[in-house]
Order: sequence, then structure tokens, then C-alpha cells
Amino acid sequence: MNLHELTIEKAHRLLKQKDISSQELTRAVLGRMDTIDEKIGAYITVARETAMTKAELADKAIGEGNISPLTGIPLAIKDLICTKNLRTTCASKILENFIPPYDATVIRKLKRAGAVILGKTNMDEFAMGSSTENSSIKLTHNPWDLTRIPGGSSGGSAAAVAADMCLGALGSDTGGSIRQPASHCGIVGMKPTYGMVSRFGLVAFASSLDQIGPLTKDVTDSALLMNAISGYDSKDSTSVQKDVPDFISFLEDGLKGITIGIPREYNAVDGLDSDVSAAVKNAVKIIEKLGARCIEVSLPHTEFVVAAYYVIAPSEASSNLARYDGVKYGFRDKYNKNIIQMYKKTRSKGFGPEVQRRIIIGTYSLSAGYYDAYYGKASQVRTLIMEDFKKAFEICDVLLSPVAPTSAFRIGEMTDDPLTMYLSDIFALSANIAGIPGMSIPCGFSAEGLPIGLQIMGKHFSEEMLFKVAYNFEQNTDFHKKKTKL
Ligand code: GLN
Repeated sequence: MNLHELTIEKAHRLLKQKDISSQELTRAVLGRMDTIDEKIGAYITVARETAMTKAELADKAIGEGNISPLTGIPLAIKDLICTKNLRTTCASKILENFIPPYDATVIRKLKRAGAVILGKTNMDEFAMGSSTENSSIKLTHNPWDLTRIPGGSSGGSAAAVAADMCLGALGSDTGGSIRQPASHCGIVGMKPTYGMVSRFGLVAFASSLDQIGPLTKDVTDSALLMNAISGYDSKDSTSVQKDVPDFISFLEDGLKGITIGIPREYNAVDGLDSDVSAAVKNAVKIIEKLGARCIEVSLPHTEFVVAAYYVIAPSEASSNLARYDGVKYGFRDKYNKNIIQMYKKTRSKGFGPEVQRRIIIGTYSLSAGYYDAYYGKASQVRTLIMEDFKKAFEICDVLLSPVAPTSAFRIGEMTDDPLTMYLSDIFALSANIAGIPGMSIPCGFSAEGLPIGLQIMGKHFSEEMLFKVAYNFEQNTDFHKKKTKL
């Protein structure tokens, strides 16, 4: 096996036995990048030299007997998580040359665990999108079919993992941005419970929805990364003071006694592809055979999810993105006569069309006279959606559903039609609205050979239950083992 194809867990075992060094591993992954990233476009910035220096330090630590599960493991980071002295662009012109003076908490934790940070991955600008086509920097291609999108907004991270250009990656999920690209790229994506992982140093999109989480080649690696990044942080007032369990320790428990719920309303979603629905049904059967009981549940407010999200997320974005004014950060347009013109020109030139659309929608929804009709109403709907989940979880432990209605679509297919793109987020948005954990694992392939993901959602702070279901499914299927033909 080539070193770049290793999972985190296997690489850790080899590093521990001193069969390989982190320098060999990191060099192999950088070599893989050199041969294929021109075709994929997963990375915005590669930190080649610092990565090799970190690998050398990791080897030294391992030599002295200091090894954690992430020591010497090469990882990729979505380009909206602040990395000290390493450019963090959010794939936006407005932050094109922004070099953070500090590390996000998750980065600090990864560094402390001895991980090697390879670089920063492409994304939709400020994480707004479902295809990574809204990046103002470059396109990312799906490693399974280069004419298709990798999903988004963490498309670069997902493509890098699927194409073995890192062993694992971090992404962020405000409305599906970890789970949907994981589904489209045939890998594992986990959006933790809101408050489980610190958001300090994550560039804010919609603060009440954003969470950082891992994208990995399998479930074990997802649990390993979650062990490393979870936990209370005094720098994030919404992070929850709660002990973090060892997620690995639950994986091998069986599924006997677990009840899985299938949301009735999800079958009626417009545009649900027959391949996706067949793959998910098959996955449910497999999980039932493994000992779980399956029941139908109702999430009656499903039809309002997209509308509520596309008011709440842009509203929070319009407020969060007010800080990019040409004064405090990044790009400033030079040709202006007064400060108002400077703001206007900076923001018109610095933000791409989708970000501007969201700011305008959000500002409108929050403005006096419209607040009650839009933001206020959407917040009420949010409560109803949360109630739906609360009721469902009174009678089941996890919910199973598709992640996206279709497999990866073609590049350019939806760029002129933002509304259809928004509607394709239907299955992913609720987990963010309700703040519950959601996961995507490979569960099949379309007729064209494109990966399909199964979504597992659970109660707040029930990540171990999600991991258990995912791991049992993975151990009894081969979907995650299939590789792209790159
Ligand atoms: N597709 C969603 C949006 O465009 C999700 C974004 C995200 O999770 N960052 O808002």
C-alpha cells in the first residue's frame, strides 16, 4: 500500500512501531499532491516547509516515546479556520492576504497532539454554497469524476481526503458543509453537537449554526479526530462544559436494543433521486439485520426547513460580515473619495456574488419593519423544528436519511439557479437548526459510479451513538474501501 493511502489509525500504528517515519509519510502525501492536485484543485495554500519541519519534530518525539494518536499525522484544514502565520482566505478576495496572528482552538489542539498541518483547502467563499463553485480562488473537482463538483462548502477538504492528499481534514458545517461534500466524495463527515467543538478562531458565517468537524477515510479516524478537537473552551462562550468521552471506546458495541427512526416526510422530498433512495433503503436493511429496530417517525415541519435556514443563516452572516469594511481586515479598494465610497467599493469588489446576495437578504430580514415577518418568523419556525426532533428522539435513538437528494452534480449545472442549489440542502439543514450531531458515511454508488452518503442524526451530545451505528455499518460493508481511479 502507498503511504498516502493510509488511514490515520493505520499510519499511527506504523509510526508507533517505527516502521515508517512522519517525514516519509508527509513526503509521500506532498508527493501525491504534486501529481494530482493540479487536476483536483483541493488546496489553496500548501505549507510544505513547515509541514516537513513539524514531521521532523514528530519523529523526534516518537523517538523519545512521546506519541499520541495524531503525532506525525498529515492533515488538511479548511481555509476558514485561523492558522497562525499561515494565510487564511475563506476563499474570498476580501481576505486574500490575511495571515492570522493566532491559532483557532482546534488548531492549537491538533498542534499540541503533534499533528502535521499540510495546508489550507478550498471552499465556497465564507462557506456559503454547496458546490465549492463560489470560491473566488479556484474550482475544485470531484475526485470520482472531474467534471463534477466535490460538494460544499468544505469541498477542498473532502476532495483532499478522497484523493489521498491528506490523511484526514477539518471542515465546518453551518448547513451541511461537512456532511454533503463527504457524501459526494465517498468519505466520512461528522458535524458535532453545537457546543461540542470550540468555534474560537473559526471565521464566523452564522454563529448559531456553525460547527467544526472532521472529514476522514473511515469512522475510526473520525472518532480519533473528534477525541482531539472536542471539549469546553473558555474562549467560546457557546462551548459546553461537559466531559468528552473517548469516542473510540464505543465503536465495537453492538446495535442490539437500538431503535432507528426513518422520517416519513423525507420520502416526499422533491427531486430525491431513485439511486439515493435505494442506497439509503438498503443501508437501513443492513442496520436492521445488525440488530437495530426500525420505526417510522414524523418531522412535520420538514417543508419549512430550507426557508427558515435561508433567512437565519444570511441574517447572521449579514451581521458577522459587517466587520469586513476595508479598515480592520484585508482588502481595501484604493480609488475612493470618501469613507462611504470606500466601504461600498471595498465590499462590492471584495465579496463575490453569492456572499453579496446573502448579505442583502440578511440585512433585509433584520431591518426594522421586516424583522417580525422574516427573522422573527424564521426563529419561531426554528423552535418548531427543534420540537420535531425532540419528539422523534423520545421514540428512537438515531434517525437515518439521505444527506443530499442526488449524487454530485456537474460543474456549472446549478450556478445560475441558486434557489435549486438551496433546495438541495433539505436533508442537511435540520441538524444545524436543531443543534444536533449529524454524520455522513458511504452507503452506495449511483448508476454512474458516484458515491452516495447515509446520514445519521442523534440527540444532543450522542456522538458516541452515531459512531457506533456508523462503525457497525462500515464493518459490514465495503463502500468505504472503494477508491477513486485517479
Ligand atoms: N449549503 C449551505 C449554504 O450555502 C451550507 C453551508 C455550510 O454548511 N457552510 O449555506
